[in-house]
Amino acid sequence: VRVGFTEEKVERRMIAIGSGKGGVGKSTMSANLAIALARLGHKVGLIDADIYGPSQPRLLDAQVKPKAEGKTLIPVDAQGVKMLSVGQLVEPGTALAWRGPMAAGAVNQLIEADWGDAELILIDLPPGTGDVQLSLIQKARPEGAVIVSTPQDLALIDATRAIDLFGKTGVPVLGLIENMAGYACPHCGEASDPFGQGGAEAEAKARDIPFLGRLPLSASLREASDAGRPPAGEEGPAQDAFEALARALLD
Ligand code: ADP
Repeated sequence: VRVGFTEEKVERRMIAIGSGKGGVGKSTMSANLAIALARLGHKVGLIDADIYGPSQPRLLDAQVKPKAEGKTLIPVDAQGVKMLSVGQLVEPGTALAWRGPMAAGAVNQLIEADWGDAELILIDLPPGTGDVQLSLIQKARPEGAVIVSTPQDLALIDATRAIDLFGKTGVPVLGLIENMAGYACPHCGEASDPFGQGGAEAEAKARDIPFLGRLPLSASLREASDAGRPPAGEEGPAQDAFEALARALLD
């Protein structure tokens, strides 16, 4: 897919990150995957198209208005990634109750920004499988999609709908990531599975979709994310985990 403009045309790949419902860690995953891919040497862009809760400016600690050249937005440099968010197009905290065409228009503006040398652009989609998501996918025409799910049954049923949505629009699902899979007690170290175990992997297998890996429920991951320090950018087990997911995605 060719988007935006630069002096010499850059062949760009767009990958959508979707989920069947909210709160499964899709935005957290998008931010950290973007950083992990950049650390692997790719020029990465991140489009935050989550009109219901654009969180990339906060996650990447880049709560600034992007500059523009004429009508063309210039993505913000954030932690080694170029980023634009629908949240940057409106006043902070404003609820974005856009309908499909309006959301698609806004996202178009983000796609047609000056992405410069970025060759891999992730799109953090709104959670769910409605008209808004459909028109965004049709507008962005990503070459593939990644689905984030928790092991919880309900999330899996919703994830199945997300898989169907991409199927309907002819976008291949590149893989499924299971988030909040298992929990190691920080006090006693005992491992437990608050949302069950293995559901996402089984679902992926049943549908012939690559299973990219899982990430445990982790208090330190949430704290770092809330503080605008994505763990993919800091040495530690979480960084290794996101690097492994990024490698699996590129495989
Ligand atoms: P979504 O984009 O799917 O709505 P978010 O990425 O906003 O979800 O995550 C929802 C909340 O869950 C955030 O507070 C985030 O920090 C937290 N979270 C995401 N993944 C994990 C995880 N693996 N462990 C602990 N907290 C997580």
